[in-house]
Amino acid sequence: MSQRTFSIIKPDAVKKGHAGAILAEIEKAGFKIVSIKKVSISKAQAEGFYYVHSERPFFGELTEFMSSGPIFPMVLEKENAIADLRKLMGATDPAKAEEGTIRKQFAASIGENAIHGSDAEETAAFEIGYFFAGYELK
Ligand code: ATP
Ligand code: MG
Repeated sequence: MSQRTFSIIKPDAVKKGHAGAILAEIEKAGFKIVSIKKVSISKAQAEGFYYVHSERPFFGELTEFMSSGPIFPMVLEKENAIADLRKLMGATDPAKAEEGTIRKQFAASIGENAIHGSDAEETAAFEIGYFFAGYELK
C-alpha cells in the first residue's frame, strides 16, 4: 500500500545548487512528488518543527541552520515511503553514510546534512501538516 512521507531539502543543499540533483535521486528511487514549495522559515518556526529535539545540546545550532536560508519542504509518496526515504538519505552523519546515499553525495557534516526525512508514521503526519494545507496535497 502506498504511503506518504515528508522531506526537506535543507539550506546547505539549496545554497550549493544541489536541489535539482537531490530531486532527481528521489524520483529515480520511485517516489512521486505529491507537493513541493520553496520557503524560508523563522527560528521560531524551525523550533516548532524540531520540538522533539528541544532538550538536545545541538537544538540552537539546528534551528539557526534551518532558518538560515530557503528550503524545499515536500511530500513524497510510494510504497514503504518512510523507511525507503531514510535508506536513500543515508546516516545522519555523512561520514557514516553508505555510498550512493544522498547524504554521502551532498552532505558536508552532521549539522549541514542536506536532507530531512520523517522517521515514523506519526511524525510524517505532524510534519506534513506543519508545512502543507489539505488543498496543497491533491
Ligand atoms: P532529520 O530529522 O533532519 O531527518 P535524522 O533523523 O537523521 O535527521 P535526528 O537525530 O532526527 O537525525 O537529528 C535531527 C537533525 O539534527 C539532524 O539531521 C542534524 O542536522 C542535527 N543533528 C543531529 N545530531 C547532531 C549533532 N550531534 N550535532 C549537530 N547537529 C546534529
Ligand atoms: Mg530525525
